[in-house]
Amino acid sequence: MADNHHKVVIIGSGPAGWTAAIYAGRANLSPLVLQGTQPGGQLTITTEVENFPGFPEGIMGPELMEKFQAQAERFGTRVVYDTVNEVDFSKRPFRISTDESCYTADTLIIATGASAKWIGLESEQRLMGHGVSSCATCDGAFFRGKEVIVVGGGDTAMEEANFLTRFCSKVVVIHRRDSLRASKIMQDRGMNNPKIQFIWDTIVEDIEGSKETGVTSVTLKNLKTSEISKFPTQGVFVAIGHKPNTEIFQGKLDLHPNGYLKVTPGRVNTNIEGVFACGDVIDHHYRQAITAAGTGCMAAMDAEKYLEAQEANLATSV
Ligand code: FAD
Ligand code: NAP
Repeated sequence: MADNHHKVVIIGSGPAGWTAAIYAGRANLSPLVLQGTQPGGQLTITTEVENFPGFPEGIMGPELMEKFQAQAERFGTRVVYDTVNEVDFSKRPFRISTDESCYTADTLIIATGASAKWIGLESEQRLMGHGVSSCATCDGAFFRGKEVIVVGGGDTAMEEANFLTRFCSKVVVIHRRDSLRASKIMQDRGMNNPKIQFIWDTIVEDIEGSKETGVTSVTLKNLKTSEISKFPTQGVFVAIGHKPNTEIFQGKLDLHPNGYLKVTPGRVNTNIEGVFACGDVIDHHYRQAITAAGTGCMAAMDAEKYLEAQEANLATSV
């Protein structure tokens, strides 16, 4: 059990978690990173990352995350492929229960990020892996020569749509409003791609097909006219954003009404002393790899200061 005690435990292995590990490692704190079910985080399901500083030619998402991990390991980070189910914040050290084991920590850094949202249709779940996907990078090649739709109007939708044009004969973006949320450069790429079309002010009400046939069509509703129509398609890529991975902290840490973890404004402290949070799990606004890395750095520096203060208190009390 002594092996399972660490001064710093980091939950999550995306840009925020690895950056926290690099800083905590360089501070000689030998952090433990619990990777979760998506080692490397969200960037492992994308293709080229063009806006992470230091890579003027761009870099593939998975490769970038391998570099983060290698840098963290270089400074003595212990990495375990395991998922946290519960944290007991009521005692010190904090007790962290995972699928495989149990760990204790003097400080905890939460970097659990965010996961893809789903529309919420029964047919969407039933046809998942049979024509319904949330990851073009993972599944795009299965749709070679086919016509597909992408649901959403943000950067992810534009990125997915553009990527899918490598394989698909036609990609139709279905967006619930008449203007995109995506950044200007991503909008331009979508608008200028001759294989991409847009259907505005429209939502997907149902997805038709079976496990045998795959997706055959979707039922669309125009939100301005209320008109319902059937639209033939062979694939549905859902790209409507992400929700923070905070289920295990509900009722234990302060959360915003939208589920994101609350931290002191401009800082990364949660409402429990010694517990810090960073990355997308605290950020419903920027949600970028570089901002996640930035707050990961802040969390590790604050964890180090917290541990120093604890040790100083202990020294004066004896
Ligand atoms: P994440 O990357 O979400 O990582 C979260 C980590 O927490 C994962 O390792 C997961 O396994 C782990 N975890 C979750 N729950 C648990 C648990 N219970 N126990 C243990 N571990 C757990 N940003 C850019 O700057 N540039 C881009 O080009 C770009 N492209 C993107 C493309 C796509 C398709 C997507 C979806 C996002 C993109 N982003 C991009 C956004 C960027 O990926 C995120 O802002 C960034 O990954 C957030 O980092 P994070 O470390 O906070 O969380
Ligand atoms: P997002 O910015 O939150 O956009 C989600 C989109 O889906 C919005 O257009 C939204 O519509 C729509 N939507 C939400 N719920 C819906 C529902 N139930 N039904 C239909 N449509 C729905 O999410 P994102 O595109 O995943 O981007 C997340 C973050 O990652 C952003 O900060 C983004 O900049 C970043 N990212 C960056 C890059 C890059 O820089 N290359 C690439 C991908 C992602 P409304 O517009 O009406 O709200």
